[in-house]
Amino acid sequence: MTAPRLEIRLDRIGHNARTLVKRLATRGISITGVTKATLGSAEIARELIVAGVVGIGDSRVENIEAMRNAGLSCPMTLLRSPMLSQIDSVVTHADVSFNSELDVIALLSRAARAQHRDHGIVLMVELGDLREGVLPGDLEAVARETLHLPNVTLVGIGTNLGCQSGVSPDQRNMSELSSLATSLESTFGLTFDVVSGGNSANLDWVFDCDDVGRIDNLRLGESILLGREPLRRRPLDGLYGDAVTLVAEVIESKTKPTQAWGEINQTAFGLQPRAEDRGMTTRVILGVGRQDVDPDGLVGPAGMEILGASSDHLVVDAGAARPVVGSEMTFQVDYSALVRAMTSPFVARVFTGGSAMTA
Ligand SMILES: *Cc1c(COP(=O)(O)O)cnc(C)c1O
Repeated sequence: MTAPRLEIRLDRIGHNARTLVKRLATRGISITGVTKATLGSAEIARELIVAGVVGIGDSRVENIEAMRNAGLSCPMTLLRSPMLSQIDSVVTHADVSFNSELDVIALLSRAARAQHRDHGIVLMVELGDLREGVLPGDLEAVARETLHLPNVTLVGIGTNLGCQSGVSPDQRNMSELSSLATSLESTFGLTFDVVSGGNSANLDWVFDCDDVGRIDNLRLGESILLGREPLRRRPLDGLYGDAVTLVAEVIESKTKPTQAWGEINQTAFGLQPRAEDRGMTTRVILGVGRQDVDPDGLVGPAGMEILGASSDHLVVDAGAARPVVGSEMTFQVDYSALVRAMTSPFVARVFTGGSAMTA
């Protein structure tokens, strides 16, 4: 089989999604399944829909367009503020977008009018992580302007924490989002469809808190795909951590010294730390590199150690094993390794166990 490749167990992704859908439903929270780490995989999106997510979210309109072209008709949300250069496409392919700039919302309105469509707006609120969002003090004014524009509907508000500064969702910032929702609704006499509290980083807060307030939606990617919460990278109970693995092929396998020799300067990727002298070891090269994956995000088979990587070579100390040329090795991936591998044109994807396939 071709290598390198991602082996994607759709049944395990489905199980993770279904488990989280059930757990959050007890809190009155729905899930938007996030596909941005999968290059907008329609196979995965379909599995998430079957598992009960209420819609799909992605940060790239290109991914949303690809999923639409693959036949997905579910609600689609663009999770990143639209680029002015992509406004028309956003209106065509996404039902809703996350917004924090009035100029963008005004152009969405104009494009929606020209396309005879209505586009949903979720206003993002900055609650301390310092990535996207309108400051709480400006929210009412931005909402008022949005409500005046034709062909756009203010469907709700949301926030995103844990991505730029690692700020944790907690009772204080989540209560603030709830109060902002309540106050906008009473000021303007509306009922929001969605108060979107955040991403996988919100799970600890949800499971620990007594009162989720007005939060009725989370957008989940990493927790579904990797079975982990991202703040401390702890595995989530009852979820698969190995739904996606990377398989690479051995292209050299030799007994060599542990220490390099000769005068030592920088490599293409900077200065390399000097290895401790452990005599002769089995060094294996796999045909995968930084163009395919983030090597720092890989965990190899037990007893093996990743020594380094260049653009096209991954070097591993095989420990007691003696892998032969042409054999394959399976690696666990973290979020960074997953995103890079999913978006590399050199990495194939092999899907197994999909409910759409067995049904
Ligand atoms: C990426 C992203 C998500 C999903 O984050 P995960 O940690 O993968 O669950 C949710 N919301 C926004 C705005 C995002 O950019």
